[in-house]
Amino acid sequence: MEENKDKSSIEDWRNRRNKVKVHNKKLIKRLSKLNDKKLHVISEGLHDRVFEKVNCLDCANCCKSIPPIINETDTRRMAKHLGMKVTTFKDKFVKVDEDMDMVMNQSPCPFLQEDNKCLIYEYRPKACREYPHTEDFEFAKNLKLHAVNAHYCPAVFHILEDLKTKL
Ligand code: SF4
Ligand code: SF4
Repeated sequence: MEENKDKSSIEDWRNRRNKVKVHNKKLIKRLSKLNDKKLHVISEGLHDRVFEKVNCLDCANCCKSIPPIINETDTRRMAKHLGMKVTTFKDKFVKVDEDMDMVMNQSPCPFLQEDNKCLIYEYRPKACREYPHTEDFEFAKNLKLHAVNAHYCPAVFHILEDLKTKL
């Protein structure tokens, strides 16, 4: 519901994200001790509720600060859309990082536009579609990531804040 979205959730994240780092690590430790069923019960619906308030187009911090991992299917799809050869696309936009993953070679992402929209939205990498990994069972599978992502993503920050009230 666009009418429920305002920038205050993003401001709140910006102001408090550094202060909750230690608490978030402790929270993730406690969550990782829960069984899958309990974890799913307390986290169910949080992704949708938080994204009713947080508007990615007011943020785009993931696109500005975390180069997405890209697989071969992604490169073929993006190169085709841009009318480029895969090798040319890789030369221009891709690098291999310290973990030996292929990632976008620039940050902010070269496809991020001034209005925070993605120039290749329909063709974007799988990693961009899945970020911030908080939907349904994805939440439980990526617990350790959430403590890090809360610093970069206001939605993850607010999901963890909500969970603190439930434990
Ligand atoms: S950092 Fe989170 S809230 Fe911001 S644009 Fe990315 S997914 Fe959306
Ligand atoms: S490809 Fe699009 S969604 Fe992915 S980081 Fe770049 S601008 Fe963001």
